[in-house]
Amino acid sequence: MQTAMQVGVGLIILCSIAGLFMAWHAWSDSQAIEPTPEPVQTPTHAAILAQTEEKVNAMPTMETGLKMPVGRWLLVDPSKTTPFPAFTYVDGMQGFSAQGDAVEDGKPVRMILRLPMKGLSWRAMTPEEGKQHGLPAVPTWLAAYGPQPAAGTVWGTWYDHPRLQGKFHPDYPDDLQVIVHDGGPRITQARPELIWVRITGGSGDLFSGQVLNKPTQLKTVSAYQEIKFIVPGGGAHPLMVTDKYLKERAEWEIRPCSKCGLTELFDAPSDLIRVVFPNVDLEKGDRLESFTAFCGACHGVQLVKWAPHSAPSQP
Ligand SMILES: [Zn+2]
Repeated sequence: MQTAMQVGVGLIILCSIAGLFMAWHAWSDSQAIEPTPEPVQTPTHAAILAQTEEKVNAMPTMETGLKMPVGRWLLVDPSKTTPFPAFTYVDGMQGFSAQGDAVEDGKPVRMILRLPMKGLSWRAMTPEEGKQHGLPAVPTWLAAYGPQPAAGTVWGTWYDHPRLQGKFHPDYPDDLQVIVHDGGPRITQARPELIWVRITGGSGDLFSGQVLNKPTQLKTVSAYQEIKFIVPGGGAHPLMVTDKYLKERAEWEIRPCSKCGLTELFDAPSDLIRVVFPNVDLEKGDRLESFTAFCGACHGVQLVKWAPHSAPSQP
């Protein structure tokens, strides 16, 4: 028979065992709530690069190419700090330009850039961006600059012309030296002059440009005058031409000059024939199958043959 004392000791032992169990349970619970943290994963170099590339690809990239579209809104960044929208156009006096409002000290400031500008960062704006900036399709001020090339025309295709390589001014990429003249030696005593001209448009081998210097002794060419010029197949420099010459040129084959290789005349063939062969009456339908001419550039000899539709026509 158990005594009261034995029962008390048994209860104390039971309570102690229960206490120990609860303490263990609490300890194991705390282990479950706060597990050992996993080591932090460091992104690999390749992963960082991929992320960066993704971000860069998502943004339209700026470029610095000299060939730019005319009649378009571009985002330009001449100061490399704050790009702003500018519309590209041709100014009859100043050449290819872009105009828009930059923001300085929180205020819009009208900026005019003379293009092409080496190193200028730019990119074409999307129509959505134009709407976001509240830009009109064509700015109202454009009308003051007269007729413009078709919107989207690429300015500067001439930079790639194989026979114009190395001929552009290093600081003014639209400027090059052109032979300007009053005509060849049969027509005028005035000597041709090699003068700087700023291209204002054109393609293929035919361009328009503005004369930048005053000729010293020519009578038909003056400073700031707009002229047309071609890039001859043979000869050292681009050559000024008249509309009359271009109209007649396609009907004649011009053999290279015996001395300088020039494959163009300084005069319209009909003007040369009228002076050199006064008995030939072109008005009455007389024809000259061929004749020789003195080269306007060097006074060498050129053979000129009538060959309708065989000569390469000018654009
Ligand atoms: Zn010659």
